[in-house]
Amino acid sequence: MKTMLAAVLHEFNDLRLEPVPVPVPKNSGEVLVKVKSCGVCATDVKAITGRRRNVKFPSIQGHEAAGVVAATGPGVLHVKEGDEVIIQPLGSCGFCRPCRNGFTHHCADAFVIGGDGPENVWNGAFAEFVLTTESTLYPKPAAISWDAAAVTEPLAGAWKGVIAHSEMRVADDVVVIGVGSIGLLCLMVAKVAGAARLIAVDTSRHALEQALRLGATDAVNPGDGDAKKRIYEILPDGPDLVVEAAGPIEAVRLMVDLRRRGTRWNVFGITTHETFELDGGLTHFLEGRQDASFGTTTVAMAKSIRLMETDLINTEAIISHRFPLAKIHEALAVMETPEHNKIIIHP
Ligand SMILES: [Zn+2]
Ligand SMILES: [Zn+2]
Repeated sequence: MKTMLAAVLHEFNDLRLEPVPVPVPKNSGEVLVKVKSCGVCATDVKAITGRRRNVKFPSIQGHEAAGVVAATGPGVLHVKEGDEVIIQPLGSCGFCRPCRNGFTHHCADAFVIGGDGPENVWNGAFAEFVLTTESTLYPKPAAISWDAAAVTEPLAGAWKGVIAHSEMRVADDVVVIGVGSIGLLCLMVAKVAGAARLIAVDTSRHALEQALRLGATDAVNPGDGDAKKRIYEILPDGPDLVVEAAGPIEAVRLMVDLRRRGTRWNVFGITTHETFELDGGLTHFLEGRQDASFGTTTVAMAKSIRLMETDLINTEAIISHRFPLAKIHEALAVMETPEHNKIIIHP
């Protein structure tokens, strides 16, 4: 039996680098991919540290991956050994009602590779090889580097949230609360989609500097004083769209507080079960629109690849660190510091 190096999670906070059997694509449609690059997502850190509890042991995390087809199982028609591919971590059946309506991320029969969402979780890509199905694969255009390709899924999430769900329009004034790697991607999507004023909000100076470099027109640090007051000094008429890409409930509360009549607001970053209050009459009077966005769809993946292939968005710009798989513990330590953006693992 052939073995490979993998980062195996045995228990919360017990991640071990060890040899495991290389998976064999034996079921119809299965494909083995040699992983070239895999991004580290906050979801991975939450699983490894126990901040997310829906994790099975032992398991392999890592869902933002790209690589080379190494072997194909029975019935695989569209890829062959040697093909360079980008993986959508969420596999969908293509036949159920949500799939047929374009909501592939709501698929009744979905599985996820090393991530969160569906019950059916496959091992992820913090390993030399990962098993998936051909329906999750997209050809990697030659113009996109391996590391940039690993950012396809988070960029797809940003496109889906900002464009597909919140229907951002050219000349909208946009506020992005939380400009870690996913917030920066939302900001880059909003920039390329023609945002007028584009305000980044974050408590990290490092993150705000990065946001200004990537196209934000203004940076607001809630640590420096009343964030709402500062934003309304920049935008006296208030924002057209607010995207919460932060996570903490305070960010959602700030978003709710920023609304004026007609503001669209997107609950995008928070994944924990905390509550916030809405004034019913005020919400009625404001006539805003609340959106949310989780995961990606096949359309979002295709758009994300197109954005990178045509150089409208260069996702390399948000990569701050690269580590070999053998140094994944170092990578996870950097994830806990404010001085990072997207971190890439090279198995
Ligand atoms: Zn992710
Ligand atoms: Zn389905």
